[in-house]
Amino acid sequence: MKKKDIIIIALALLAALALYLVSQISLGAEASVVVVTVDSREVLRKPLALENRYEIAQDDGSLNVIRVEDGAVFMEEANCRDGLCIRQGKMKNGAKTIVCLPHKVVVQLEGDAPASDNSDLDVIIQ
Ligand SMILES: [Zn+2]
Repeated sequence: MKKKDIIIIALALLAALALYLVSQISLGAEASVVVVTVDSREVLRKPLALENRYEIAQDDGSLNVIRVEDGAVFMEEANCRDGLCIRQGKMKNGAKTIVCLPHKVVVQLEGDAPASDNSDLDVIIQ
């Protein structure tokens, strides 16, 4: 086998590996499930694709209304004292969480595949 052939094969393998890694990262970053916890207990797990409105009512009268719309989730209503959770706006990927501190409500987005530790790769996805 010539040296030039080996280089071509190596490059092809590298390209295939890069493509594979990129697809893995994209999958990991794709949030598809809305997860709501109250005081660290999971109370809701619904697909992000399902447009809906969820009321999280607690025994002490705390109320949070979570809305899922256009592939995003946001706090539509809350009777907490600071209203910060409403001001956090819409969330579309797992990089962010919506937190209602007074009510101990946390809204998160999760992907089907957990995000892996590929942070040391020089790959930029746009
Ligand atoms: Zn709040």
